[in-house]
Amino acid sequence: MNRDSRTVPSRYPKRAHQEADIVYPILDEALFCTMSFVYEGRVRSIPQSIVRVGDAVYFHASVGSHFFRSLAQLDEVCITVTLADDIVVAKTAFNHSVNYRSVVLWGKPEVIDEHDEKYAAFKTLTEKMVPGSWDYLLPMTDKQMAKTMAIKVPITEVSAKVRQGPPSDVESEEPIWTGLIPIKPVRGVPVPGPDAGGMALPEHLVLSTSVDG
Ligand SMILES: Cc1cc2nc3c(=O)[nH]c(=O)nc-3n(C[C@H](O)[C@H](O)[C@H](O)COP(=O)(O)OP(=O)(O)OC[C@H]3O[C@@H](n4cnc5c(N)ncnc54)[C@H](O)[C@@H]3O)c2cc1C
Repeated sequence: MNRDSRTVPSRYPKRAHQEADIVYPILDEALFCTMSFVYEGRVRSIPQSIVRVGDAVYFHASVGSHFFRSLAQLDEVCITVTLADDIVVAKTAFNHSVNYRSVVLWGKPEVIDEHDEKYAAFKTLTEKMVPGSWDYLLPMTDKQMAKTMAIKVPITEVSAKVRQGPPSDVESEEPIWTGLIPIKPVRGVPVPGPDAGGMALPEHLVLSTSVDG
């Protein structure tokens, strides 16, 4: 993938990476992203669910979505993904930081009409959101497929940036606590909906949330 002035940060460039083995796990862990683009002369930025299949990321929405119909006409969107791991607490406010893994990528959106590619994107997204659930659910119907639009953005220009570790601090003997405050999101205990009262949790939900029974 390209390593050029657009994909290399001017600050801490050593923290930047273009390799798939660093970029893809970040994309695969992040459930959500922000998609930014210029449309009719104005900058827009929209939160979205994101899934990677191969060397592209995919998005979905209702075929009635104004936003998605706009996307299909664009030459370029910019997508950012952020995984924030820790607040880094230092001896000085100046040296406080964040441990994170983030990705910025650009690409040209394409509408996907081909059935198998669209189906694979929906399946991979569902499995990402609720691991192990695709075969448990009622099957996706042709009508539901037709009502849902899929957009693909090939990953051609991309950067990841990663900061991990303790604070970079000033030298001082003052007894000031320093360290990390983890802020990673966790999957909580599933809360049954009205139709699921009294049902045991299906196995895939027990496994994906580490819930006992
Ligand atoms: C959760 C979080 C909190 C942050 N908080 C701050 C903060 O408060 N202050 C601050 O200065 N910085 C913060 N950063 C870092 C910030 O994202 C930029 O990396 C930083 O501002 C340096 O920008 P730059 O001028 O070097 O980037 P530029 O030189 O403008 O960037 C050039 C290119 O480098 C790549 N790039 C830059 N940053 C990133 C990134 N984070 N991830 C992937 N690719 C990137 C992009 O491809 C970009 O187009 C934070 C990052 C994260 C993930």
